Amino acid sequence: MAILPILSAPHPVLENCTRRVRVIDATIEKLISDMTETMYAANGVGLAANQVGIPLQVCVIRIPEEDHVRVLINPSIIVRKGERELEEACLSIPGYRGLVKRSNEIRVRAKDQNGKQLRIKATNNLLAQALEHEIDHLNGVLYVNHLVDRDSIWKLNEVPEENAEIATEEILNSGNS
Ligand code: ZN
Repeated sequence: MAILPILSAPHPVLENCTRRVRVIDATIEKLISDMTETMYAANGVGLAANQVGIPLQVCVIRIPEEDHVRVLINPSIIVRKGERELEEACLSIPGYRGLVKRSNEIRVRAKDQNGKQLRIKATNNLLAQALEHEIDHLNGVLYVNHLVDRDSIWKLNEVPEENAEIATEEILNSGNS
């Protein structure tokens, strides 16, 4: 296994749709194990393949209370219900947090690392938020596209105000909105 470098926004591979995986071969298996190790090393809840520069529909999610990693291949959201406001961060937007709109309920169809068909339903929990966040990544969408309003993003550590605004603008302008 290897820890892979995580790309930061703005970057073209983060802003484009990824391709479907056709065969789960040794290359995909290695990608999954490297992404899992990278996610743990970065202390993240999830990681999408394009965040490590691979434009394929693969993501991993680890909910802290669960003892396993969820691997999703070619995932798609088949149902979204309701709306809620949540704080969110992203390994590709280091040092920032934002307030975003997410769904209450999410239903997802995907394959696992063995090619087995999965259906996942998540309601009002971190898993629902992580599923939306990671599947967004695979569609070239970042959480900054879902901000409650344009100002609802902030830097975690204090920096000179001028620099903070420039950096925020750069991230917002990289979005698809
Ligand atoms: Zn992210």
